[in-house]
Amino acid sequence: MSESMYQQIILDHYKHPQHRGLPEDFDAEVHHVNPTCGDEVTVRVKLADGAIVDLGWDGEGCSISQASTSVMSGLVIGKPVDDAMALQDTFLTLMQSRGNAELSEADEDELDDAVAFEGVSKYPARIKCALLGWMAMKSAVAEAGWGASAHNGAGKIADSAGEPG
Ligand code: ZN
Repeated sequence: MSESMYQQIILDHYKHPQHRGLPEDFDAEVHHVNPTCGDEVTVRVKLADGAIVDLGWDGEGCSISQASTSVMSGLVIGKPVDDAMALQDTFLTLMQSRGNAELSEADEDELDDAVAFEGVSKYPARIKCALLGWMAMKSAVAEAGWGASAHNGAGKIADSAGEPG
């Protein structure tokens, strides 16, 4: 896709943000700020059965930060948390690529509209804008208890995977 088509995708999400609005029923809420640009985003998540069953957000700031949060929300709602974390990781890699991302076709399919932010990775000052919502999502999921030591998982084989503590 061309740069201008990518810009159109970002603009569309900025003008018509998906899942904007904070749901009443949620497990965790986080508020993230990107001081270098003045972007802010609040994300609420609800988890059930290892999946993100709901996510809503509110925010203000530049078009990249708000559009990226919109794209993120559309991609992770309904996904198993593991898949959402893997996608977050892929997006992080894309943003750190400095415009030289070598994404597999499978990655591009998974990222969907988030591929539109590839061009943003060329501008270090804007990378935090694009990552803001994704980082907030990751924090909210952690806050909701995902990845914390299971408190009702007695009997499961412990696999601490090198985590301290
Ligand atoms: Zn920004």
